Amino acid sequence: MMSNRMSNRTTARAGLTVADYVKGVTSGDRSVLARAITLVESTKPEHRTLAQSVLQELLPATGRAVRLGITGVPGVGKSTTIDQLGINLISAGKKVAVLAVDPTSKRTGGSILGDKTRMSRLAQSQDAFIRPSPTSGTLGGVARKTRETMAMVEAAGFDVIIVETVGVGQSETTVADMVDFFLVLLLAGGGDDLQGIKKGIIELADMIAINKADGDNVTRAQAAAAEYRLALSILTPQSAAWKPPVVTISGRTNVGLETLWEKIDEHRTTTSATGEFAERRRAQALSWMHDMLEDRLMEALRSNKRVAAALPGLEADVREGRLLPTLAVEQILELMGLAQS
Ligand code: GDP
Repeated sequence: MMSNRMSNRTTARAGLTVADYVKGVTSGDRSVLARAITLVESTKPEHRTLAQSVLQELLPATGRAVRLGITGVPGVGKSTTIDQLGINLISAGKKVAVLAVDPTSKRTGGSILGDKTRMSRLAQSQDAFIRPSPTSGTLGGVARKTRETMAMVEAAGFDVIIVETVGVGQSETTVADMVDFFLVLLLAGGGDDLQGIKKGIIELADMIAINKADGDNVTRAQAAAAEYRLALSILTPQSAAWKPPVVTISGRTNVGLETLWEKIDEHRTTTSATGEFAERRRAQALSWMHDMLEDRLMEALRSNKRVAAALPGLEADVREGRLLPTLAVEQILELMGLAQS
């Protein structure tokens, strides 16, 4: 597959039409898909306009995939597990896409989620598509691009979309808000397993998997699972129909991943029957709209030349106490043509 930079240049030069993109993506042409995603990630207004037209056309072909979010601290075994799970799903005849949400990632340094070298077997499969996190912008911007990329890979015929993230800031909440099922990977600790785990994450989880349950670690993993089951039984579940299970797995030795997938299937069947599945997607469509609105407004703010010219002066005035923050905001909104009359 082409590198990012390469496909960027090609997009600018070759200038595919909306119809070319739609035809290429829906026929499963990987290079067109990669270029369409590059368009989504681009900050150029003309690319964005083109991307929106393509997405609008692709919309009817989306919605059929299983959307699975996976979170866990670095080292918990996300890439090992995704690699193995992906290979299992492909053996069962499915096509698997892996996307990443990492607002902290920069091309230079740090572990990059969705890096192909971290999922070496999956990366070689023709039935897999791996895309690293968009690197620029705020979490809101990254989330928008990931949602749009998700729509593109669904239209390209991928059956399972895995979105991985690390526990940085709000990124888990953001990912939980774009998937059907949110899986939290944890490790067995030293007897005080519930320490140091953000309670909020547990509340987002549709399932908890204790990873690295292999070798000498099996008993400890099972004990940790029992503790988490107890902890979860105290919390009120998000759904009346679904009590988040706690399982033990070993991504490295492929143990427990079959059960894990069965639970994901069972969740879909159960919540589809109660209508919760469809309701979750409807709510997500709305929050997609709200996130995008915020993202676009912030971008309009940042790119507004009149605001840019006035901002240093306004900031100095606020800092020195010559201007109230509220009045500065009013002036900025006025410059943007958004002042209340
Ligand atoms: P990530 O940072 O969450 O993506 O974690 P990785 O998948 O890169 O795994 C981190 C380390 O843990 C690597 O050295 C893996 O080989 C190891 N690892 C991952 N899964 C397992 C597992 O199921 N069992 C054992 N024993 N080690 C694992």
